[in-house]
Amino acid sequence: MPVAVVTGANRGLGLETAKVLAQRGYRVWLTGRDAAHTEQAAATLRRQKLDVQAGVLDVASPSSVAAFAERMPTEPAIDALVNNAAATFQGFDANVAERTLEGNYRGAVRVTDALFSKLGPSANIVMVSSGMGELSNLAPELRERLLAPSLSRAEIEQVAEQFVSTVSRGAQAAAGFPNNAYSVSKALMNAFTRVLARELTGSARRVNAVCPGWVKTRMGGSSAPRSLEQGASGIVWAATLDASGPNGGFFRDAKAIRW
Ligand code: NDP
Repeated sequence: MPVAVVTGANRGLGLETAKVLAQRGYRVWLTGRDAAHTEQAAATLRRQKLDVQAGVLDVASPSSVAAFAERMPTEPAIDALVNNAAATFQGFDANVAERTLEGNYRGAVRVTDALFSKLGPSANIVMVSSGMGELSNLAPELRERLLAPSLSRAEIEQVAEQFVSTVSRGAQAAAGFPNNAYSVSKALMNAFTRVLARELTGSARRVNAVCPGWVKTRMGGSSAPRSLEQGASGIVWAATLDASGPNGGFFRDAKAIRW
C-alpha cells in the first residue's frame, strides 16, 4: 500500500488532499500542528473507512519536525510528501517576514530533509506554492539570482535573510522585494523546488511546485472562485505522478506555468 504524508492537513486544501489520496488507496499521515484538531480531522476520514493516521507536525518548529521524523516508520517508505502547510499573518514588519519565511519556506525545506531518508525510490515531493510566488513580483536582479542554474540552498537562504533585514530597515522595496512576506516565502519555496529537482537528477524521485489557484478556504476566503476539489486536484496529480512524470516544474491544474 502506498504511503503519503501531508502537512497542514487538519483543514483546507491539506485535508482535501489527504482525503483524495486515501480514497485512491494511500495510507495517509494527516499531520498538523495542533494535536486535537489533527486527530479530529483524521477521525472524520477514518469514519469514511479511509486509512489515515494522525501526526503532530509543526513545520515551523525544528524539534517538532525531528520528533515526527523519528516516529515515522522507515517501512513502508513514503511515496508522496505534500508540503502544504502555510500561514499568513496580519501586518508587515521584520517579525512577520521572519515568521512567514520560517513556516512557509523553511518549513518545507525542513520537513523534506527530515523525511528524505524515508522516501521511496520513486517518491513524489509536492511543494504547494502559489501564483503569488511568481518571480515577476521581484526586481530583475533578484529574479536573475533565483533563476541561476547554479543556485544553491545557501544562496536562497541569503535572499531570505536579506529580505528580513531589509524589511527591518524599511528598505525592502529598494532591494527589489514586494511588500508581501507570503509572496516572498512562495518565491523562495519555488527556488528550493528548482534546487532540489537538480539534487534529485539521476534518481527516480521527483519534486514539483503546484499552485492550487484561488480556493475557498480560511486562507483563500469566501470570495474565492474555486472549490476545495478543484484546488486539490492539481496537488493530487503531482503527488501521484509515475516515473515518466516531470521533475522541477511549476504547475496549475497539471499544466506548466511560469516561475
Ligand atoms: P488554510 O489556511 O485553510 O490551511 C492552512 C493549513 O496549514 C492549516 O491546516 C494550518 O494549521 C496549517 N499550518 C499553518 N502553519 C503551520 C505550521 N507551522 N505547521 C503545520 N501546519 C501549519 O489554507 P489553504 O488550505 O488555503 O492553504 C493550503 C496551501 O495552499 C498553502 O500552502 C497555501 O499557501 C496554498 N495556497 C492556497 C490558496 C488559496 O486560495 N486557498 C492559493 C494559493 C496557494 P492550523 O489549523 O493549525 O492553523
